[in-house]
Amino acid sequence: MSHLELHGLRKSFGGQPALAGLDLSLAEGELVSLLGPSGCGKTTALRIVAGFETADAGTVAVAGRDVTGVPANKRDMGMVFQSYSLFPNMTAARNIAFGLRLRRTADRARRTAELLDLVGLGHLAGRYPHQLSGGQQQRVALARALAIEPRVLLLDEPLSALDAKVRVALREEIRRIQTSLGMTTLFVTHDQEEALAVSDRVGVMSQGRLEQLDTPAVVYRQPASAFVAQFVGVTNAVHGVAEPGGVRLGAFRVDAEHGLDAGAEVKVIVRPEDIGIAQHSGQPNGALVGSVLTQSFLGPVTRLSVRLAGGDEVVRVDQPSSRAGDFPPGTSVALDLSRVMVVEA
Ligand code: ATP
Repeated sequence: MSHLELHGLRKSFGGQPALAGLDLSLAEGELVSLLGPSGCGKTTALRIVAGFETADAGTVAVAGRDVTGVPANKRDMGMVFQSYSLFPNMTAARNIAFGLRLRRTADRARRTAELLDLVGLGHLAGRYPHQLSGGQQQRVALARALAIEPRVLLLDEPLSALDAKVRVALREEIRRIQTSLGMTTLFVTHDQEEALAVSDRVGVMSQGRLEQLDTPAVVYRQPASAFVAQFVGVTNAVHGVAEPGGVRLGAFRVDAEHGLDAGAEVKVIVRPEDIGIAQHSGQPNGALVGSVLTQSFLGPVTRLSVRLAGGDEVVRVDQPSSRAGDFPPGTSVALDLSRVMVVEA
């Protein structure tokens, strides 16, 4: 049974649709990310779920109960925003205890200490927000959101103000805590790696709608559209011409399903790790040939950029460094493409 259900949500601002009919259903304990480019409606969706914004149409239900008309402070939802939004004149402990105090929860001190421990800040209970790092402030904000034992946790870009290392550590922490508490969570982010890393399912949004809602692996390996393929993960686009059952890229042909007319100008979308490579000499002979522009060692992978002979396309290639052939700049190479998607150019 779904625990949080968004049905037919619509919202326009000044005649411009921000949400164009959003349906989404989260199982109890599930973490779903809303992922999409700036302006696609993620935050609007979250604010409607929280009760900070009123939808033009549609409903929000929690555990089968319609909460569409219920005020935000009666929805039993915990929220963490991008900006830390702690009370500056209260210590970490008092910030966390605040929600408990409002609810007259018994044994507040013990509960506050537990929450501080949960987010790894037991030793900093007495610090004020300005004495805490950004990551520590977000931990306090998370603990404060969890203090009220919400039925649903809403996270709106909670990590985007933090530097890369802290961001990765804290997202793992959030996921660990969310899983251990079995907290139904909606997580808004524009960072695809973050969404893939922490979610049970990822909802990729475009223009106020869900383009795809699937597990991270499916969204990545079987994108439902070129938009999803290009938004999630690094992709290359190589121009070519449609043929029956495939695409011609100069002398090279790649097999691919597409519903396009033969002769149509198309783009072949391919992920860096789906490109094979070998040294090449002599005539093209049906190969997709190019010349290496750069070779960068990145630790677990080596990244190549290649200029294809047929045009000015630049294709990037990752390959495991453990098996790395050496392809210094200027090397002539033949590429092989697999798992391609074809879209109109
Ligand atoms: P971002 O990642 O940049 O926060 P988003 O996907 O969260 O983007 P929203 O904040 O939901 O997008 O905004 C969706 C659209 O609605 C945008 O075009 C935005 O300009 C518009 N919008 C959002 N809130 C308001 C508002 N209060 N008044 C007018 N327009 C708004």
